[in-house]
Amino acid sequence: MDIDNILKLSLKELGISFSKAQVSLVKEYLNLVYKHNKKFNLIGTKDKEGILIRHILDSISILKYKKYLFYNTDNVEKVLDVGTGAGLPGVMLSIFLSDKLFYLLDKTLKKINFLNLLVKELKLENIRIIRGRAEELAKENLYRENFNIVLARAVASFNILSELIIPFCRINGKIIFYKSKKIFNELAVHREVISKLGGKVDNLLEVKVPYLDEYRAFLIIKKAKKSPDIYPRNFTKIKTQPL
Ligand code: SAH
Repeated sequence: MDIDNILKLSLKELGISFSKAQVSLVKEYLNLVYKHNKKFNLIGTKDKEGILIRHILDSISILKYKKYLFYNTDNVEKVLDVGTGAGLPGVMLSIFLSDKLFYLLDKTLKKINFLNLLVKELKLENIRIIRGRAEELAKENLYRENFNIVLARAVASFNILSELIIPFCRINGKIIFYKSKKIFNELAVHREVISKLGGKVDNLLEVKVPYLDEYRAFLIIKKAKKSPDIYPRNFTKIKTQPL
């Protein structure tokens, strides 16, 4: 089946309404990632269909829960994607949630260069790009506890990632982890890490990603209270003494 069909059928299956313009943006994104994958060291998957299913559809699938996560009474304005890499899931979400402002954060210059190219080519107006290390930026007033939703996909192991991203979220905001079936073990072992950082497990939303035969779910954490000032610790500490 061709890319256009896979994409449209998948959006329908997930219950996501879409315009022609949104579908063309997704396809342009796919073409740019495919074209520049090597040069910018973007993602492991090399073929177009694989990139579409494993990365794009996987990122978009959260929109099945669009109303619950992005259009509830919380008045979501600012969303932060930590360790966005080639812009996943942030760029995909910015296309379908054009009234929200997306901040894409990454430490790697190559990824930042690609994101700049992408935003220009696709004329995405609701994206801001931030280069830096999450553990450093989370200490800055400008970013700390300043986002309604903070999300991350495939960035670091569970306890490390929790320390990196929970401090960015506003009180009463949500932190969202894109997860595989590893989440059950991680929750069993690391649940107390979340409360140490001021979070509280809120929900686990499962999803069937079209054409992908693997377990996927979103762990939703609510920011219940302020993250203690000592977190995130410096990079060496985080790595050598994970919470
Ligand atoms: N979220 C993307 C990329 C995953 S690869 C996707 O789903 O495809 C992980 C990315 O996180 C890399 O681009 C890496 O540069 C970035 N990263 C890892 N640790 C980071 C940190 N401490 N601060 C900022 N970015 C980080």
